[in-house]
Amino acid sequence: MGSNGRPTRGATSWRQQRERARAPRPRLPVRLDAPVTELPRITTADVRSLRKLGLQTVRELLLQLPFGWESFGAPTPIADLTAKSEARVLVRVVSAQVKRTPRRGMLLTEAVVADELGSTMKVVWFRQPYRADQLRAGDRLALAGTVRSSRYGGLEMQNPHTERVDEHGPRWVGELMPKYHLSGKLTSRKVATWVDATLHLADQLEDEIPEHVRSSHHLLSLAEAVRLGHQPETDEDWRRARDRMGFAELLELQAAFLMARQRISVERATPIPYRQEVIDAFKARLGFELTRAQKRAIWDVYKDLQQEVPMNRLLDGDVGSGKTAVAAAAAAMAHHCGLQTVVMAPTEILARQHLHKFRAYLEPSFPGLGVELLISDLPSAERRRVRMSAASGHCALLVGTHALIEEDVQLASLGLAVVDEQHRFGTRQRELLRQKSAGGRPHFLAMTATPIPRSLALALYGELTLSLIDEMPPGRRPVETQVMAPDDRDTAYELVRREVRAGRQVFVICPLIEASENLEARAATVEFERLRTQVFADLRLALVHGKMRDKDAVMRAFRAGESDVLIATSVVEVGVDVPNATVMLVEGADRFGLAQLHQLRGRVGRASLRSYCLLLADDPSKTSLRRLQLVADTSDGFRLAQEDMQLRGAGELLGARQHGMSDQAMASLRRPELLSEVRQEAEALVAADPDLTRWPALWRAAELRLERTSVS
Ligand code: ADP
Ligand code: MG
Repeated sequence: MGSNGRPTRGATSWRQQRERARAPRPRLPVRLDAPVTELPRITTADVRSLRKLGLQTVRELLLQLPFGWESFGAPTPIADLTAKSEARVLVRVVSAQVKRTPRRGMLLTEAVVADELGSTMKVVWFRQPYRADQLRAGDRLALAGTVRSSRYGGLEMQNPHTERVDEHGPRWVGELMPKYHLSGKLTSRKVATWVDATLHLADQLEDEIPEHVRSSHHLLSLAEAVRLGHQPETDEDWRRARDRMGFAELLELQAAFLMARQRISVERATPIPYRQEVIDAFKARLGFELTRAQKRAIWDVYKDLQQEVPMNRLLDGDVGSGKTAVAAAAAAMAHHCGLQTVVMAPTEILARQHLHKFRAYLEPSFPGLGVELLISDLPSAERRRVRMSAASGHCALLVGTHALIEEDVQLASLGLAVVDEQHRFGTRQRELLRQKSAGGRPHFLAMTATPIPRSLALALYGELTLSLIDEMPPGRRPVETQVMAPDDRDTAYELVRREVRAGRQVFVICPLIEASENLEARAATVEFERLRTQVFADLRLALVHGKMRDKDAVMRAFRAGESDVLIATSVVEVGVDVPNATVMLVEGADRFGLAQLHQLRGRVGRASLRSYCLLLADDPSKTSLRRLQLVADTSDGFRLAQEDMQLRGAGELLGARQHGMSDQAMASLRRPELLSEVRQEAEALVAADPDLTRWPALWRAAELRLERTSVS
């Protein structure tokens, strides 16, 4: 029985057993919209942890289903246990004491326990010395977990799920323990208890899936799905419940996208007519031949620009695939018919880089096409000049950062708005950028360097049309990628030294620490100190992490060659061109997604220098190395993204939370046919009733998603 599955119960149903074990209920919240503070025995810390998970009301609590189950079946007599099996035992404590591990001196509780038949075994709870005080000889416990052979002979359990058994018998352990997403000191058991106390409210949940859709796809009702999702009778129940929740979420998202699309489609943009001479002039002075993928994307864009309906397109191509040239080609066309273009980038360095590239691409062929930069770090006189130039229509292309939307910037005749690294901006920011236009709505082009599979793009950015740039300009040397076990670290350091001696620069990326920017920053600081004092004492090292104020300054200095090795956390997207950097060393590479590693690798090999990506695995297991080897074997970002999605699910690929999608919706994305079915249903619903007045629950849910997700 895998930890995600759930067995079919035998004679006594799980719920009947639970019913028997149920203690008298404390006073309960009776409303779905009651805040979680009204839940029984909830602490303020619990409330905070729940809020972190986005759960503030009973309704939200109920709508979050477990993502898996711990299941250990019927109790086993100790005498029948075998090593390396999952088991559940019912025991009494014989003795318990605090001990230290021999090597590291870590505190633990060690207990001897005995079952009814008198057989005994050892139980160890690492890092939980306090348990020794809580356990008295004779206490009854239900334990569930993996059985191992003890180093000193016999069998033992380590850190099992532990539950004290009272006169009602065990309630969770050994029955079924749902696994919920957690934060802080929450436990799945606490969540399960709150769910149990409020599950009777499930009937009041309004179903957002219209009845006819539900029946044609054989979906559970929302109330059923919530009940069975939290407290299933069979494996099948739980699976169906999750499928239904995933379906609903995708439907809400697609409905939201379609409504957004519809809103945009009634807006009017100024059509930008196609002129052959413009693209000819653009290509003539570019200095390189456009790739086929770039030509295709430019053509997609030109077709959109000719329409009265504003363009709403996502340009997705790996780092270095040449997205800027596509945006420049669009800007040239806009300029030709007297319209301005604005380009927003997430950082000042990127904005500056854009300034240089756009100038290089456009000024030779279009002498009248002025390109200007607006960032907050400019002398105020210069800022004023740029603002004037934009407002008068003199400046044809305005590049900048957030400063573009924060300051009082107006463009006389904005025709095209471009956002680079679009996921770094919120919905509102993108909307504000579009509003810079004095007249109608500008055409909109979003760019991203995160290759994502088509199906995922549809699910996440369903209101945008997609152009892929799945081809690199010729002559790029692929980055030589090597997967290394921890023992190879010295070899990696030698290579670093060799490159620095040759005048090159190096990135060292510290391991990803899940969900803690603080810990990650601290770990990076420690690594920085270690490298600085023990490994590369003679080199110039710099550190950058997410908790630092002046990340940009560190990056700028590195780019200017003021340090040899930059130690960075994964939080810092090193989204900057440092053509002189030739080594990307990633520590703890196995903790990253393949697509993420690919992104990091993209930071080197920007010039024609021979470049290296060294992936150091913390976990040198075969599976882990094989997974990493994929990155070494291909430089196709779309392929790695696809692999990631198959191997670890879409959530891992992008960070589900970041996109406000639940893991069950992400899970359903592994079935691309489902997504297109959902899309069709959403299209039919919106076509029949554009404002979804007939389906208010769906409408509300979709509106909520529009607010929360990153759709533009
Ligand atoms: P992206 O923004 O997609 O990461 P850029 O637009 O910054 O990539 O392009 C990366 C580099 O490749 C730039 O130096 C650019 O001038 C160059 N480049 C773009 N397209 C081509 C091409 N078709 N052939 C050769 N070099 C190109
Ligand atoms: Mg770029």
